[in-house]
Amino acid sequence: MVLMTGDQYIESLRKRKIVVYLFGERVENPVDHPIIRPSINSVAMTYDIAHDPKYEDLATATSHLTGEKVNRFLHIHQSTQDLVKKVKLLRVLGQKTGVCFQRCVGMDALNALSIVTYEMDQKLGTEYHKRFLEYLKYVQSNDLMCCGAMTDPKGDRSLRPSQQADPDLYLRIVERRDDGIVVRGAKVHITGAVNSHEIIVMPTRTMREKDRDYAVSFAIPSDAEGVFFIYGRQSCDLRKLEGMEMDLGNPRYSGQEAMIIFDDVFVPWERVFMAGEYEFAWPLVEYFSAYHRQSYGGCKTGIGDVLIGAASTVAEYHGVAGSSHIRDKIVEMAHLNETLYACGIACSAEGYRTPSGTYMVDILLSNVCKLNVTRFPYEISRLAEDIAGGLMVTMPSEKDFKHPEIGKYVEKYLKGVEGVPTEHRLRILRLIENICMGLGAVGYRTESMHGAGSPQAQKIMIERLLDIDFRRGLAKTLAGIGEEAKKPS
Ligand code: SF4
Ligand code: FE
Repeated sequence: MVLMTGDQYIESLRKRKIVVYLFGERVENPVDHPIIRPSINSVAMTYDIAHDPKYEDLATATSHLTGEKVNRFLHIHQSTQDLVKKVKLLRVLGQKTGVCFQRCVGMDALNALSIVTYEMDQKLGTEYHKRFLEYLKYVQSNDLMCCGAMTDPKGDRSLRPSQQADPDLYLRIVERRDDGIVVRGAKVHITGAVNSHEIIVMPTRTMREKDRDYAVSFAIPSDAEGVFFIYGRQSCDLRKLEGMEMDLGNPRYSGQEAMIIFDDVFVPWERVFMAGEYEFAWPLVEYFSAYHRQSYGGCKTGIGDVLIGAASTVAEYHGVAGSSHIRDKIVEMAHLNETLYACGIACSAEGYRTPSGTYMVDILLSNVCKLNVTRFPYEISRLAEDIAGGLMVTMPSEKDFKHPEIGKYVEKYLKGVEGVPTEHRLRILRLIENICMGLGAVGYRTESMHGAGSPQAQKIMIERLLDIDFRRGLAKTLAGIGEEAKKPS
C-alpha cells in the first residue's frame, strides 16, 4: 500500500500525458508552470500531512476494504468519528495552506458513490457497487488524487438536459458499446482538475426518463484520450509571472479551477458507476452535496484562522492591537469562524450509518453549515479589511520597496511600530489582500458562495428537511389549540 509524500505526488504528475490550455496556449509542462505550481503545492500538502506523526490519526485511516493504512482523502467513512476527523483534518490543511487544497471533492465523490452504487444494486440488481469497490481499491492502493466533476455548463437554466437546444450542454452518453460507453460534454469550475490523476464524473441535478443519457457517473484518468482542460483565471493571477513573491501575499500556495472537455471519450464498463438510472441521479447529487457542504465547515475555518491571525498581527504592526474596538472585531471574527466549525462538527457527530455501511452526515445540519459559509467569510473578510486599512490596496510593489533609490522612502514612510520591519507589515497586508480579494479570494469568498451549491440550493434542502408539521404541533400544543405535537419524522 502506497502513502505518497508531497514530492512523490508531484513527480507522479509528470508521468501523465495531460492536455491543458492556459491563456490560449497548450501548456507542455503544467507541473512547473508558475501559475499552476502553487496549486499543486497545496495538494502536495494533503500527501505530506499523512507522514506527519502529529496528524497521523487525522490524515490517515484504515481501509475497510483491505485493512491497510490509507490517506484519509481516499477513505470511506466507517463511523461518526471518521466524519469528525475529516472536518478536523480539513481545518488543519486550511491553516497550513490558506487556500483550497482541492482533494476533498474526490473524497466526497467516492463516499457518495459508495452509498448510491449500493442502493442501485439493491433496487435494480446491477453490479455497480462491486465495480466501485474495485475502483476504490485501485485508487487507495496507488494513493491517487481524484477530482470530482459534477457541474455541467447547463445552458438555459429553465430547460432540462434533454430539452436544451445544444444537447451537449449537460454531459451525456452518446454511444453504448459492448465494452463501455462514449461520453460527450463538459464540466465547469472543477476544483483541482489539472492536478488530478483521476476524474470522477457525476450528474449535476435531478433527471427524468427523457434525460436518461445524462444520468451518468464514471471515472477516467485525467490523461484519457479526448479529455482536455482549459485553465480558469483567478484574480491577480499574473502576479505569479512578475517575479515579486512579496506581492503574492501567499507565494507558495493557491487553489485551482478548470473546465474539463470530454470530446467523445470512451469509458470501459468497469469504470462506469451509473449509465441511465435516472432516478438515482438526485440521490447521488444529494449525498455528494451533503458531504461537500460538511467539508466547508473544515477548510473555510482553517483559512479563517489564517485571516484572523493576519488581522491581529497587522493590528499589532499598526500599533492598535490594544484598542477595544480592534479586540472586539477580532472576537467577532473568531465567533463567526467557530460557528462555521461548530456546524461542521455537529453535522458529523450527528451522522448515521447507511445500509451500505458508509456513514452519512446529518444532511439538514450540513446544509445549515454551508449556508452559513455563504455569509460568514464575507463578514470576516470585511472585518479584516477594516482592521488592515487602505494601505492593503494602495501600497507600492516589491520592486519599489527593493529599489536601490526609492526603496528607502517606501521603507521609511510605510513603517509602523518601532521594532517591526516595514517588510513584515507589507507582507502581512498582502496576505490579507490575497485572501479577501486576490488569488485566495476564489477559495475563501466566491467558492464559499457557490462551491458545493449556491445558497438557494441549501435553502431548498433546509425547507425540505425542516419537518414544519412537527414544529406547528409544538406551537399548537402550547397555545392550547389542542393538537398533540407529532414526533419529528
Ligand atoms: Fe476541499 Fe474546501 Fe477546496 Fe472544497 S473548497 S476542495 S472542501 S479545500
Ligand atoms: Fe469546493
